[in-house]
Amino acid sequence: MTDHGAAPDDARTAVVIGGGVGGLASGAALARRGWDVTVAERATSLDPVGAGIAVAPNAVRALAALGIGDTLRDLAALQGEVGLRRPDGRWLLRARAEQATAHFGDRTLMLHRAQLVGMLANALPAGALQLGTAATVTDPGTARRPARVSVVSPDGVRNVDAGLVVAADGIDSPTRARWWASAPAPVHGGSTAWRFVAPAPAGLVGSETWGRGIVVGLAPLADGRVYGYVSVADAADVPGDLDGLRARLAGWHAPIPELLASLDEGTVLRHALRHLPAPPASLATGRVALVGDAAHAMLPNVGQGGCQAIEDAVVLGARVRSDDVAAGLQRWSAERRPRVRRVMRLSARVAGPTRWTSPLATGLRDLGAQALGRRAEALGARALRPLLGWRPPE
Ligand SMILES: Cc1cc2nc3c(=O)[nH]c(=O)nc-3n(C[C@H](O)[C@H](O)[C@H](O)COP(=O)(O)OP(=O)(O)OC[C@H]3O[C@@H](n4cnc5c(N)ncnc54)[C@H](O)[C@@H]3O)c2cc1C
Repeated sequence: MTDHGAAPDDARTAVVIGGGVGGLASGAALARRGWDVTVAERATSLDPVGAGIAVAPNAVRALAALGIGDTLRDLAALQGEVGLRRPDGRWLLRARAEQATAHFGDRTLMLHRAQLVGMLANALPAGALQLGTAATVTDPGTARRPARVSVVSPDGVRNVDAGLVVAADGIDSPTRARWWASAPAPVHGGSTAWRFVAPAPAGLVGSETWGRGIVVGLAPLADGRVYGYVSVADAADVPGDLDGLRARLAGWHAPIPELLASLDEGTVLRHALRHLPAPPASLATGRVALVGDAAHAMLPNVGQGGCQAIEDAVVLGARVRSDDVAAGLQRWSAERRPRVRRVMRLSARVAGPTRWTSPLATGLRDLGAQALGRRAEALGARALRPLLGWRPPE
């Protein structure tokens, strides 16, 4: 990163704003292509939330393209059996997760978020990550003029010229608000998510259990813990504290009540779910790319928000050359936008029935799932192949 006015050689300078999954992956992807990268993260430490994250086959391959495929496989749990249950424990659907390799080329891997963030941070060149550093795009630049970023760190304020800026500054992206003024703003998704990581009970099987407006997911991690999530629709009218949730799920199948009873309220995350209704008309302006949740925050029901951020990063690294940044970014946007829009729509479609609360609607929903039976795997494979079968550019 060169200070503005100091005879800069900006062409290969890239500033990434945000040190979440999208920003770290972008920094790693650009550094591998020879960019001189700085990742500015305004928080003073990378303290990822205490939760798990599913890395789907498309993102497993994207991470391999960043050179961290082996570390990923060493640390992650292979998703085992997957299926859908009713609150009384009866299985509606059961699928052999190992079949995913045949269908999608890889299996979904489960990680603690701290592991994924740590892996991505380690893939950056030494000194590239600058914590406690907030960055603001003051000029997005053009094909002929570099972008300009104001960088505020404990050392003071600097104006920096950059050949490329990646704004990976999250769902409330200040960059989107300023330079994509007509882009849709985040909206409430109609439910609240609870997340926790706890010691896994013996014999735990991964599953999702769908009730009336409530979904509980359990995913074993490689280190003997379980990542649990509960989404509660506003219409399910559950009190907002952990005791209220425990009371509502007291009759659900084992080990859900026992797990909830074992949790310390301070370690449980609770967030109202929000998403963007659509991505901006273009994911790039001038020399600035909008990546990850800043561009396409989606509901978590397909587990693809982070995976798509990693895809964005890997494709960006492959498609944008320092001698052709503005045009390269437009091509990158044209390639990425239709795909992320489809995933956003799919996530919203899958989320819909999880919010249903009427006994009739949920009863029909469950009957439909059960009726699919053995055909579910083949139908799911066909429907999800374009999403999960994705491969990074050569
Ligand atoms: C309940 C739930 C479950 C999920 N499960 C999954 C899953 O299983 N699989 C999956 O792939 N995805 C999942 N997701 C989605 C995933 O978490 C997000 O899509 C992903 O974390 C987005 O990463 P990001 O880097 O784009 O944004 P963020 O993680 O929000 O990072 C943005 C960063 O930018 C920083 N920042 C903001 N402004 C500035 C500034 N001016 N200067 C410097 N830094 C700045 C912020 O401090 C922050 O660190 C889930 C989401 C939720 C809510």
